[in-house]
Amino acid sequence: MKVLKFGGTSVGSSQNINNVINILVNHSKTDTLVCVVSAVGGITDKLLLAGKQAQNKEEAFIETFNTIKTRHFEIVKELNPNKSDNILSFVEDKLNALRSLLDGIFLINELSPKTSDKLVSFGELLSSFIIAETMKNRGLSADVKNSQELIVTNSNFTKAEVDYSITNQNIRDYFKSAKQKITILPGFISKSRIGEITTLGRGGSDFTAAIVAAALHVETLEIWTDVSGMYTTNPKLVKQAYPIERISYQEAMELSHFGAKVLYPPTVQPVLSLDIPIHIKNTLEPDAFGTVISNEEIKSTSPVRGISNIGNIALLTLEGSGMVGIPGFSKRLFETLSQEKINVIMITQASSEHSICLGIEDKEAENAKAAIDVVFENEIALGKIEPIIIETGLSIIALVGDNMKNHQGISGKMFSSLGKNNINIRAIAQGASEKNITAVIDEKDVKKALNTLHEQFFETKTKQINVFITGVGNVGERLVEQIKQQKKYLKDNLKIKLRVVGLSNSRHMIFDEDGIGLNNWKEQLASGEKASLQGFFEKTKALNLRNSIFVDVTANKDVADLYAQYLRQSIAIVACNKIACSSDYNNYKDLKRLSLKYNAPFLFETNVGAGLPIIDTLGNLIASGDKVNSIQAVLSGSLNFVFNNFNDKTKFYDVVKQAGAEGYTEPDPRIDLSGVDVARKILILARESGVALNLEDIDNTSFLSEAGLKSDSVDDFYQTLIADEAHYQSLYASAKANNCQLKYVAKFENGKASVGLQEIPEGHPFYNLEGSDNIVMFYTERYPQQPMIIKGAGAGADVTASGLFADIIRLGND
Ligand code: ADP
Ligand code: ASP
Ligand code: MG
Repeated sequence: MKVLKFGGTSVGSSQNINNVINILVNHSKTDTLVCVVSAVGGITDKLLLAGKQAQNKEEAFIETFNTIKTRHFEIVKELNPNKSDNILSFVEDKLNALRSLLDGIFLINELSPKTSDKLVSFGELLSSFIIAETMKNRGLSADVKNSQELIVTNSNFTKAEVDYSITNQNIRDYFKSAKQKITILPGFISKSRIGEITTLGRGGSDFTAAIVAAALHVETLEIWTDVSGMYTTNPKLVKQAYPIERISYQEAMELSHFGAKVLYPPTVQPVLSLDIPIHIKNTLEPDAFGTVISNEEIKSTSPVRGISNIGNIALLTLEGSGMVGIPGFSKRLFETLSQEKINVIMITQASSEHSICLGIEDKEAENAKAAIDVVFENEIALGKIEPIIIETGLSIIALVGDNMKNHQGISGKMFSSLGKNNINIRAIAQGASEKNITAVIDEKDVKKALNTLHEQFFETKTKQINVFITGVGNVGERLVEQIKQQKKYLKDNLKIKLRVVGLSNSRHMIFDEDGIGLNNWKEQLASGEKASLQGFFEKTKALNLRNSIFVDVTANKDVADLYAQYLRQSIAIVACNKIACSSDYNNYKDLKRLSLKYNAPFLFETNVGAGLPIIDTLGNLIASGDKVNSIQAVLSGSLNFVFNNFNDKTKFYDVVKQAGAEGYTEPDPRIDLSGVDVARKILILARESGVALNLEDIDNTSFLSEAGLKSDSVDDFYQTLIADEAHYQSLYASAKANNCQLKYVAKFENGKASVGLQEIPEGHPFYNLEGSDNIVMFYTERYPQQPMIIKGAGAGADVTASGLFADIIRLGND
């Protein structure tokens, strides 16, 4: 004999019921079957809703009732197109009784737990009857037996306790003489010793099946549901979760106790001592292996078997010096809760006994507080303890595994990966048997926490990076294309799963929690919602994804002003925008401080020399104890391009225009030609060398003409270049006469920095610098005579994008 239980979704439509019937027919070839069924999916909730509405005098209960009615009628007709009358008349009778009950509730405005149980019992009574009668109509040897005549409980309505001696006897007696091959039993419902209708608690059909399986000593209990087994974690919240093939009773119990809804927690108890394995299977995918829960020894490399979560948790904290060393204190506390029938999900106590923290269901918090405050009234009045504190809106997450006790460092890994993602932990508990480690966190962080922990313990091989890019002009566009091209490489070779989750230009923005498809990102972006910098931040924050990186590919001050907000949410920043790092020193320092405090890296390699590894190298020198004596550099790809192409046969205006057209200058060329851009770069290098400088402290002798300096628009500026050609030619002529090349040089020495055009003699490392190349020479204590030199293309969309990309990957490798 076999016991199979089918849940709400499994019997949620005529199509699914047909699947169930097929599964039963297959199994019945070799076995006699007991089949426990839930109510049609969602009906228990609807019955409770109708009850609440009736109790609150809301006429809407009639509408709710009608949807319940229509749903059942439709299912009956679809299952039995030619022969539904006999079933429909039973269903009609039951629905009439249900309607009378709801009318009664409406009339007296009252819905007691006892009436509530009566109300919800209709769900399983209807589904079991419909399924059994449909099978009979199809000529199968099936019948329904009302479990209320078998399962006897106390009168603890809504979650009654089973009287096993009577129940087991009833079940054995019934099945001894049952003739049919397949017996359909309604799950969840029972009766008290004095004949009142009771239920076994929400989700209790699993329990019914386990009670029957144990009473009949069957070989296996199969729980058929809508997922392919017990997953490593809640599959609705973590896409990467996968079914656990084998798990021990204890582990399954812990996981379900801490929220893995796929199995109702008490289900394991009846079958555990009899060693009856529970096999969880998927009705929608019957061929999938599922999960076997048993005592069998499990070979596994990971000590963590699963992660679960329970929402709607309140934390009660009782504290005060009057608790220390006083015997009986906890006893009184727990007795009070027990009298109020409040279930304690988790307990922690500080070793000083100064405080006790309890995790209970949110909805019971007020009740608990009132009761405890009364019981400890005296102590509170005397100031020995504080009135109880309640915090709500919390969740419990739990790591579960029988073998965790034999492995060190699991809680360390758990808490550090949560901490890295800015998930605040409100309380921690670890059972002495170390089968679980639980933490209480904010409800809003649950999805992020589960994904982080799942990645840590079950997907150690890949790290997911979630990127939010603002600014998809020249450089941003190249970056997106490079990411698209390298995605597979990163996954295969570096185990980094890089996803672009948010994209914005100045007009539109788009988000996709599962990663934006990069094949047609431009079209998607063009029809995205209206862009807003603050809106982009809010959305990034609300998505609350682990390993989030905000990438600033703009040159916009308003974007730079938002960095602090991002860092405070532990969102890392990668920027080619120089404004933040060259802003007021205090702001720069503050961003560095926030980055440290919130564990959110702030990387800006492309601020100097585009893709060249200048800042990273400098950082490594400093971190390893070197000291910078001086820096000499040509840091403007744009100015290098201009002076490499300018001579007595070209016009200064034409060369600057060409530089602009080829993307070597900022949209406003004055930023480059005035030297401001270079000044910002040397400022950043000086700061990264550990010196507190501001932009005003940098000596900047401009080579521009008076009129050029004073121009107040880009067009005006271009006009001055034409008018002052002679001025620029004289600069060239002087250099040529001295056998020199013109280079725009940045220097930092003895705490002072300067930028300006210089005539560079032959033989100097700067002399032969080509195209838009940059060069930096670091003279340090370790490189005193021969400097460390970094040289290469220092401008251009592709190299800048690759510099940003390198920063992103650096975070991925963290
Ligand atoms: P049924 O109606 O068949 O009893 P339930 O809705 O009670 O089904 O339980 C199955 C659901 O449990 C799944 O659809 C899934 O959303 C949820 N669930 C939560 N945690 C887990 C987990 N660790 N493994 C599998 N399912 C889980
Ligand atoms: N129908 C009940 C519920 O929804 C019992 C069950 O499905 O297990 O809670
Ligand atoms: Mg269930």
